[in-house]
Amino acid sequence: MEKFSERLNRLSFSQTFVMSNKVREMKAAGIDVISLTLGEPDFDVPKNIKEAAFSAIDHNFSHYSPVPGFMDLREAICGKLDRDNNLTYQPTQICVSNGAKQAILNVLASIINDGDEVILPAPYWVSYDEMVKMMGGKSVFVKTSIDTEFKITAKQLEQAITPKTKALLYSSPCNPSGSYYTHEELESIANVIAKHPQITIISDEIYEFINYDGKHTSIAEFPQVYEQTAVINGMSKAFAMTGWRIGYSACPTWLAKACEKIQGQMTSGANSMAQKASVTALKTDPSEYRFMIEEFRTRRDIVYNLMRDIPGFNVNYPKAAFYFFPDISFYVAKTLNGTFIKDADDFAMFLLEHAHVGCVGGVSFGNPNCVRFSYATSEEDLKEAMRRIKDLLTNVKIS
Ligand code: PMP
Ligand code: GLU
Repeated sequence: MEKFSERLNRLSFSQTFVMSNKVREMKAAGIDVISLTLGEPDFDVPKNIKEAAFSAIDHNFSHYSPVPGFMDLREAICGKLDRDNNLTYQPTQICVSNGAKQAILNVLASIINDGDEVILPAPYWVSYDEMVKMMGGKSVFVKTSIDTEFKITAKQLEQAITPKTKALLYSSPCNPSGSYYTHEELESIANVIAKHPQITIISDEIYEFINYDGKHTSIAEFPQVYEQTAVINGMSKAFAMTGWRIGYSACPTWLAKACEKIQGQMTSGANSMAQKASVTALKTDPSEYRFMIEEFRTRRDIVYNLMRDIPGFNVNYPKAAFYFFPDISFYVAKTLNGTFIKDADDFAMFLLEHAHVGCVGGVSFGNPNCVRFSYATSEEDLKEAMRRIKDLLTNVKIS
C-alpha cells in the first residue's frame, strides 16, 4: 500500500531528468537519439582540479568536513566573490552544499512558512517551483515573453509583491532563457526590493562565467540589498563538475547559520575530496578555463544560424548560459502528422519520437509555448539535431 505524504503529492518529477531518462531508454533500445536535454557541460574536469582531488584522497580527506564546509574552501569562496564580483564576505557567511540545488533548498527551508509567497520570474529553472512547494510556500509567477528576452521589469516586480512575499528567486544568467540581467536592470530591481525588508533575494548565479558579453553583475553588489541577498553559485557549470556536487550560498550571517542548521540535520558537510578540489578550481585564474566558454560561444552561433531556419520557430540570440528557448507556439493546438500538440511538452515528445532529438518542454519552466535545447554537446551532434528537426518540420502535415 502506498502511503505518500501531502508534501510528496504536491511534487512533480524533475522534467529535465524525465526527458533525459527517456532518451537514455531509447538509446538502450538501439535508437540513434541526440540528447539536447540535460544542461551539463560535456567537457572533462580540468586536469589541475582532478589532481587536487587525487591529492586529497592521498592525504586522507576521507572524514566529515565541518557542516558548512572546510575553512580553506570557504576562504577561497570569499576570495572568488571579492575577485570576480567585488563582494565582501566572511567565511562565516558561506555554506558549502551538495550542489547549488541544495544551497537553494537550504535558504528556502530557512525562511519559508506555510503560505508564504515566492516570486518567480517565468520562465524559471524547473526545480524552483517544486522546491517552494516542498517548503509549503506558494510561487507567484511573473510572466515574460521572447520579445523582452524573457526578462521582468522593476514595475512588474513591484506589482507582484504582497505582504506575504518572502523571497524573489531567479537565475541570471537564466536557465532556460539564456538571458542575463544587466547592471542597470538589477539596480532597478534592487531599488524595489530595498523598500520591502521582509523579502530575501535568492540570486542564482551558477552560470556566471558562461556569459558571452562578460558582463556579469551580482545583485548583492548593490549595498541597499546586500543584507537581503543570498548569492547562490557552485562548481557544476563553470568547471564541468556536475557530478562532484559542490555548490554554495553566501548570505547575511543569520541566514548562513540557518542554512548550516538545516544542512546539519539533513546531509552534513559536502563531499570532502570534492571540496578540496574546489579550492584549487576557485583559486585558479578564470582565464585558464576560458576555452570552455569560447567553445560554447561557437556552438551558440552555429545553433542560432541553423535554428532560425526551422519553420515555425521564433528564436532569440541568447547571450549567456548554454540554452536556446525558442517559442514554438505556431505548432500549439495543431495536429502534426496525426498527433495533437496541446502544449510545448507535447511538441518536445513529438520531436523526440519523430526526429529522435531530445529537448525539454517549457511547461515545467513556466512557459507552455517554448521548448529548451541545451547546446552543451558536440558541434556534430548539434548540426545533425538541427537538420533532423528542420527536415521533420519542413515536411510535416499540419491540420
Ligand atoms: N541552478 C540552475 C539555474 C541550474 O541550471 C542548475 C543545474 N544544475 C542548478 C541550479 C543546480 O546545480 P548543481 O549541480 O550545483 O546542483
Ligand atoms: N540544471 C540542469 C538542467 O537544467 C541539470 C538537471 C537538473 O538539475 O535539473 O538541465
